[in-house]
Amino acid sequence: MSEQIFLSVVVPMYNEEEVIEVTYERLKVVLDSLGETYEIVFVNDGSRDKTAEIVRRLCGQDRHVKLIDFSRNFGHQIAVTAGMDHSSGRTVVLIDADLQDPPEIIFDMVARWREGYDVVYGKRIERKGESWFKRMTAATFYRMLRSMTSVNIPVDTGDFRLMDRKVCDSLTQMRERSRFIRGMVSWAGFKQTSVEYVREERFAGETKYPLRKMIRLSLDAITSFSTKPLKIAGILGFIFSAVGFVYLFIVLYKHFFTDSTTPGWTSLIAISLVFHGITLSLLGVLGEYIGRIYEETKGRPLYLVSERVNFQVATVEREQPAEQLSKV
Ligand code: UDP
Ligand code: MG
Repeated sequence: MSEQIFLSVVVPMYNEEEVIEVTYERLKVVLDSLGETYEIVFVNDGSRDKTAEIVRRLCGQDRHVKLIDFSRNFGHQIAVTAGMDHSSGRTVVLIDADLQDPPEIIFDMVARWREGYDVVYGKRIERKGESWFKRMTAATFYRMLRSMTSVNIPVDTGDFRLMDRKVCDSLTQMRERSRFIRGMVSWAGFKQTSVEYVREERFAGETKYPLRKMIRLSLDAITSFSTKPLKIAGILGFIFSAVGFVYLFIVLYKHFFTDSTTPGWTSLIAISLVFHGITLSLLGVLGEYIGRIYEETKGRPLYLVSERVNFQVATVEREQPAEQLSKV
């Protein structure tokens, strides 16, 4: 049997043709000078541009490079999961394709791992070239999530991190669909530490995380790690029905014991608006959870692969049968 690879780097990609070659070059320089065995697992998350073609060519030139090509776009968190499923290193690094996470930080991460840490996550001390709106919403989100969940998810970290094999294996065992990987890593425990870094501007291209996807990720994070919204819904319902009952007594008292015939239209409309508004939004909260329960019960595979390049048969055999839709 061949010896275990030291480091696997997982790179999710969605329409990254403008950056992917440069990303490869920069990763290669770092990984070569590390002086250890390595593999770079590129996951093509249903790109509609030339991303897959470019990586396929790189696979031909360099045996360290591997490609998993999805049958369609399954989303960033799922792409990262597929990369972890297919990685075999003693350590695994997750990194974005757009060079916002500088590959050179991998040196520091490996050094901390050698000190005995199982997870070394990158903590952003500065975010360059991101709009005021993105920074503000991100900061609010991390803090809101922290106050809602019992799991201690570190603020201002993304998915850029190094994990020991045992942490990676723990995560790949969790097959939930609504994935929020940084939360799952925190939940898993193990010895964790951080290295600080400056998040650079995107090297080229546009963000692949429009507001719609960011809201989805936030909802996944909150619903996977907290049932507080359901509790808040219950408390609000209780408060408002208590107030409603008090008001009912007032109304009945007025009807039977006074002569004041209140027209009542204004109060009726006001109450109806408030109650309907609250009922609908509470139904929405329930819907978010029920929708996710429905998705989970279907038990479909997390992703479908249309092609794997540069993987040995042994790696593919390790996987779960449901996901073997490959041409390999
Ligand atoms: N990405 C992906 N699938 C998606 C959206 C994004 O694999 O549906 C990848 C993307 O190619 C990049 C990483 O996820 O490598 C982070 O995306 P992006 O840089 O656009 O997000 P941002 O840094 O703007 O939050
Ligand atoms: Mg980015």
